[in-house]
Amino acid sequence: MEDVIIIGGGIIGSLIARELSFYEISVLLLDKEEDIPMGSTKANSAIVHAGYDPLPGTLKAKTNVEGNRLYKDLCNELKVPFKRIGAYVLAFNDEELKILLELKERGKINGVSEIQLLKREEILKREPNINREVKYALFFPTSGITNPFLLTIHALENAIENGVQVKLGEEVIGIEKKDMVYKVTTNKSKYYCKYIINCAGIYADKIIHLLDPDYPFAITPRKGEYLVLDKKAQNFVKSTIFHVPTQKGKGVLVTPTVDGNILLGPTAENIANKEDKSTSMEGLSEIKEKVKKLTPNVPFTLVINIFSGIRASSTYKDFFVQEIPEFKNILHFAGIDSPGLTSAPSLAKMAVEWLMEKENIKRKRNIKNFEKIVAFKELTEEEKENLIKEDPRWGHIICRCEYVSEMEVRNAINSPLPARNLEAIKKRTRAGMGRCQGAFCSYHIMKILSDELEIPMNMITLRGGKSFLLNGENKVRWKYAKRS
Ligand SMILES: Cc1cc2nc3c(=O)[nH]c(=O)nc-3n(C[C@H](O)[C@H](O)[C@H](O)COP(=O)(O)OP(=O)(O)OC[C@H]3O[C@@H](n4cnc5c(N)ncnc54)[C@H](O)[C@@H]3O)c2cc1C
Repeated sequence: MEDVIIIGGGIIGSLIARELSFYEISVLLLDKEEDIPMGSTKANSAIVHAGYDPLPGTLKAKTNVEGNRLYKDLCNELKVPFKRIGAYVLAFNDEELKILLELKERGKINGVSEIQLLKREEILKREPNINREVKYALFFPTSGITNPFLLTIHALENAIENGVQVKLGEEVIGIEKKDMVYKVTTNKSKYYCKYIINCAGIYADKIIHLLDPDYPFAITPRKGEYLVLDKKAQNFVKSTIFHVPTQKGKGVLVTPTVDGNILLGPTAENIANKEDKSTSMEGLSEIKEKVKKLTPNVPFTLVINIFSGIRASSTYKDFFVQEIPEFKNILHFAGIDSPGLTSAPSLAKMAVEWLMEKENIKRKRNIKNFEKIVAFKELTEEEKENLIKEDPRWGHIICRCEYVSEMEVRNAINSPLPARNLEAIKKRTRAGMGRCQGAFCSYHIMKILSDELEIPMNMITLRGGKSFLLNGENKVRWKYAKRS
């Protein structure tokens, strides 16, 4: 029997798992997918928001500002890029100026520091690609950007190193209580525990409804589509650029990513199907139109990828972080839409506090730090040479766009949270995320996966399940793979 079962390995579940791994308790994390992150954490804007947007007094406001403060140390500990690049919110007329002033006030109440109200000349001096018709902007220097995949994966790897068990491909389909013990049934097995933490993202309502089908809480999936620009556009803007927010959220933005791309989007469309991650001409045209208002000279010829993510918008409006009185010892993190990525470090600490109120949990004496070579390309020439001397496969560059070596791919497959498919490698190493979008490296990565996992090439998938990359046996390539 476990002390705690966490359902869901997105940023919320993974950071909670890591926080709990520092204590003398047994923790099991279950996720229905073959890899993490696969939900909202996989596809978002990756902004660590300053905290001007949430309504004062809400949990969103509190955890946003606190989460933002925790980000720098967290990313240092987990070797994840984090850059405080700042964010502008633009106003093009006096009506929008009123909204800016409200946001400034709201930001101050929420505890956001250093907010600056700027006029046209100053804005254009700092960001020459912003629309010259801009009149005013608020600048939030504490806003930042990060890499949500790496943060989630490294957090969970660190949790595993500190004793957390993780079982992937296990969907929770039933929860029953007998005496003081919960039985958690998955599609594969049964587990028993004293406490449950529900971090199931867009399905968190489904977990609540396993306990009480009539409980009045529902998640409305809200899709956001994006365009990604090649690194050639790297210096197009230095900070994140927003327009004033609307009822539907913070709107379409233009932002650098930590890896040097430019991200445009997202749209905000309520959808019926929680699995609908499609992109559409309408969505992409909407982004283009809105982005042109912010920065008219966007080099759309440099688009290298499009994707969409799904927000867990709920009827509750705020984050629903509660223990429902009829179902004691289950803490729900539901309706965690934006700014959930930013708030995650603060929400994770709330989970520990909740457990501490119930149990006298003690901190472990020997907590393992996260130690790992994260990116070969970031090393000094001397460090690279030393690694290549140790194993020449460090010097074999598999992904030319992102400069990823064969050993990084092999290490990802043999890591505490092993990569088992092409997307899993991509999330851990960036191989396939560059200009050619995997046209060159996919085949080589498939060969390495085939070699390390001892499976034929036609069993390798894009993202698990039945997403096979080869349809039947590709004899020519398979022969080549065996020979070379
Ligand atoms: C378009 C978009 C833009 C966003 N931009 C930002 C931003 O810039 N900044 C910001 O702070 N926030 C942003 N967010 C919000 C942020 O991404 C989310 O709040 C955050 O990722 C939620 O994490 P999570 O762990 O709750 O959910 P998820 O990442 O969705 O993880 C939930 C996990 O639960 C698993 N699961 C579900 N059901 C079951 C089950 N029955 N059994 C087992 N496992 C299950 C899923 O497989 C999944 O891995 C954005 C979101 C979207 C979609």
